[in-house]
Amino acid sequence: MTIEPGVVAERVARVRARIRAAGGTDDAVRLVAVTKGFGVDAPAAALAAGVADLGENYAQEFEAKVGEIGTALAALGPAGAAAPAPRWHFIGRLQRNKVRLIASAVSLWQSVDNERLAAEIAKRAPGAAVLVQLNLSGEAQKGGCEPAVAPDLVAACTALGLDVQGLMGVGPAGPPEAARPGFRRLVALADELSLPERSLGMSADLEVAVEEGATIVRVGTDLFGQRPPRPTTR
Ligand SMILES: *Cc1c(COP(=O)(O)O)cnc(C)c1O
Repeated sequence: MTIEPGVVAERVARVRARIRAAGGTDDAVRLVAVTKGFGVDAPAAALAAGVADLGENYAQEFEAKVGEIGTALAALGPAGAAAPAPRWHFIGRLQRNKVRLIASAVSLWQSVDNERLAAEIAKRAPGAAVLVQLNLSGEAQKGGCEPAVAPDLVAACTALGLDVQGLMGVGPAGPPEAARPGFRRLVALADELSLPERSLGMSADLEVAVEEGATIVRVGTDLFGQRPPRPTTR
């Protein structure tokens, strides 16, 4: 699976155009390039295209890319040299014993969905910026806390000294419109809790997310193409 920086740059422009067409602006809606499953050439191409925010789902893969990104950027020549400094977002399910591995590199922990995980993050990265992830689809394997317990989890995170910036949610599979009620619920809750960041929307449903007030969208497939299948051993 080769990543062509020129193709990624074109796709970044197309995704940004979709965000604007849905009523968002480049300033109001942050694009996170989701690079899980690809090698370090994916985040390098995103950075060279001017996307500073990178999303990863798996701790080991994350750690490897953080270690390799400098070399990968250097290989891109002037475009790599002009790239912004990366801001790494962790967006996947996270075991507590993996927090330590990545703690120094994460700039926004988007997938905090239980207090024990929050406590480990607070221990390894005191004061870290986090989002509380809500489960919007009722599918347990997607992670996220029940929306009803989110206010308590936000309060617990704050009590641990974490900087809770907002809420994150993953829409259900299926037509993009199916995501709207959950996105709306998340935004209403963020309003209630006075939390500015709302991380909603992926390749398929980013328009719905922007229409409902997303401040962060997380896009993988529409920037890098189909992900290679994940080996079952990891
Ligand atoms: C993989 C992933 C994405 C990106 O999904 P695409 O459909 O490839 O755009 C966004 N958010 C989370 C939490 C993910 O795991």
